[in-house]
Amino acid sequence: MCTRDWFDEVCPSWCVREHHADDQPADRYHCSEASYLPAVVAMEDTIPVTASLQGTDLQVWLGRHIGDTLTWVVIEPDERREPRLVLSAESAITLVQRLGVQLAQVAPGS
Ligand SMILES: [Zn+2]
Repeated sequence: MCTRDWFDEVCPSWCVREHHADDQPADRYHCSEASYLPAVVAMEDTIPVTASLQGTDLQVWLGRHIGDTLTWVVIEPDERREPRLVLSAESAITLVQRLGVQLAQVAPGS
């Protein structure tokens, strides 16, 4: 927790970010420790969509702006910011459910 004049709330239990008095407004958010996973990702908008597939490490982390109630989930490559998916926590839960439905249709490794 930080007691700066722009910061008057307790960090959520998942926040690992250090907050500083000189943080710029864009940097004033809570952040979880990222989870990493190796993935094959289309990094560009190509035709066919598989033409730009490449291996990368994805990171998944939670965020919430100071003073806000919306918690978001970020999925992005470890080494760059695009392609980047930012979802509300509720949308991420729905995404997990829909992925389960889609992936139940294929056998692992097929
Ligand atoms: Zn925090």
